[in-house]
Amino acid sequence: MSDYYSILGVSRDASLDEIKRAHRKLARKYHPDVAGPDAGDRFAEVQQAYEVLRDEEKRRLYDAGGEDALRGGGPGGGPAGAGFGDFADIFSTFFGGAAGGGMRGPVPRAKRGRDSQIALDIDLVDAVFGTTEEIPVQTAVLCSACEGTCCRPGTSPVTCTTCQGLGSVQRVTRSFLGNVMATSACPACKGHGTVIPEPCQECSGEGRVRSRRTITVEVPAGVGSGTQLRLQGQGEVGPAGGPAGDLFVEIREKPHPVFQRHGDDLLCTLTVPMTAAALGTVASVETLDGPRDIDITPGTQPGQRITLDGLGVGRLRRRGHRGDLHVDVEVIVPTKLDDTQRDLLTQLAVARDEERPEARLASAESSMFSRLRDRIVGR
Ligand SMILES: [Zn+2]
Ligand SMILES: [Zn+2]
Repeated sequence: MSDYYSILGVSRDASLDEIKRAHRKLARKYHPDVAGPDAGDRFAEVQQAYEVLRDEEKRRLYDAGGEDALRGGGPGGGPAGAGFGDFADIFSTFFGGAAGGGMRGPVPRAKRGRDSQIALDIDLVDAVFGTTEEIPVQTAVLCSACEGTCCRPGTSPVTCTTCQGLGSVQRVTRSFLGNVMATSACPACKGHGTVIPEPCQECSGEGRVRSRRTITVEVPAGVGSGTQLRLQGQGEVGPAGGPAGDLFVEIREKPHPVFQRHGDDLLCTLTVPMTAAALGTVASVETLDGPRDIDITPGTQPGQRITLDGLGVGRLRRRGHRGDLHVDVEVIVPTKLDDTQRDLLTQLAVARDEERPEARLASAESSMFSRLRDRIVGR
């Protein structure tokens, strides 16, 4: 349950970069803003694992046996939750001691804001050519009354009397290693070393307020459903005026009534009357790039595919490259014939010696249906 490596889904010899990447992905996935409050436990687990594995020293200690202790191998190994607490205390003991007997200094109030995520629905034509969208976002912004100091204007924080401004207090706790001196955050000032006697009323001492604003998103050509655009510093402003997190915009492409997208290519169907398929014609087709003439050669078969090069979707971050537009021909056979038309078709059948045609089973490779099947299965 507490294998930090499997929580992050990385191998035991993962590099710091891999750990950071895995954490970023999971933190986004389980962020309560995105995944709902039920994901909170998972999110906390991921954060806990990351806190340890990102830090070379903590990771070394963890690799050296912390895991066994956590898994209940240690004396009196209680429920995992209790083990967790002990473990955290031992860490703080090691680190308190390792830093030459000194304690951790006060923790600044300002923290980096969280990343946010929103979805953006776009039309196919905008996915092909790119667009600029204005989207409203509800986010935390700097409190203009206190400018992130959290104090009522004209007042300032005062030194905490419980910890004398150190931000931490020492206490003795029992753990599976015996009694240890643990350093923990001062409960009076939450480790900040100062307290705010008169919090700003605008933001209740948070240093930030929620606000609705409009941001401009440049959507590059070639995006598609699932593309994530990262807007640096457009997420939430952190507590006490900490730097803003990033905003991730997830693209969702709306289905198009005519064109279907397959990667960089577009597919559509062109219906042609039976006579035009037999005699040939030129069809004007409205593509996303405007009207194009398509040559229907005499004897065009149902299911025949005509490809227009370079009229598909651009590839993300590869200027100039575009996929193709595939036009599949559907031949329409008339369902109602008047007397004249029936006569004409009968004459045609006679002329072609097809009055009593021999209907045969087509070979599996050559029939239009098998070509269509291949196309569908091949995708
Ligand atoms: Zn304020
Ligand atoms: Zn304090």
